[in-house]
Amino acid sequence: MDYDVKGKLHNVLDTLPQGVRLVAISKYHPNEYILAAYEEGQRIFGESHEQELRQKHESLPKDIEWHFIGHLQTNKVKYIAPYVSMIEAVDSLKLLREINRQAEKCGRVINVLLELHIAEEATKYGLSLDACRELLAAGEWRQMQHVRICGLMMMASFVDDHEQIRREMQTAADFFDEVKAQYFADDDTFCERSWGMSDDYPIALQTRSTMVRVGTAIFGPRVY
Ligand SMILES: *Cc1c(COP(=O)(O)O)cnc(C)c1O
Repeated sequence: MDYDVKGKLHNVLDTLPQGVRLVAISKYHPNEYILAAYEEGQRIFGESHEQELRQKHESLPKDIEWHFIGHLQTNKVKYIAPYVSMIEAVDSLKLLREINRQAEKCGRVINVLLELHIAEEATKYGLSLDACRELLAAGEWRQMQHVRICGLMMMASFVDDHEQIRREMQTAADFFDEVKAQYFADDDTFCERSWGMSDDYPIALQTRSTMVRVGTAIFGPRVY
């Protein structure tokens, strides 16, 4: 293998304060890269395509915790429900219902994050803050025995302006506090703030991220 995955992994890990976990984003990277990180103790990996995740899950060690980080179509939920560790980008009540339904069939409780849309780009998925407020206020989620809402996830705008990125992440952090106080004050499992990617995770660490999703900085550029 010609790419120093192990060295890059440790460069990232060394910068993470206690209490912040790394989701190594391995989409489009081969199994040998994932295994190199695995050998260094990394266990949480993130993928954004159902078929690719399925193949990797089948061929790689079973103690890997797979996070689904992409936009998930409801008709794909059934394929990942038996084994996925966390679905990070829940952006509709419809998707949440389907995850609950499929998790029940598997006799599981699936961890999820609600994805916020704060970035200015029109193309990004996610719930607006108001849509997220509405989803929680409607309360149907309280009856869902097979999903566990563990926190919030977001992607900042893809821009060079660090202040804009910081503002967006700070908005997410403040919103976390609002929702935590209103709905999850007595629920310790609602504790995750998933933001920060290769280019902006240092800013995420300053805006109370608990989970950074880093791909390129560990595995190098993706070959599509
Ligand atoms: C690809 C991806 C990442 C990782 O991006 P890098 O810039 O390679 O670190 C993080 N989060 C999501 C949702 C992604 O799709």
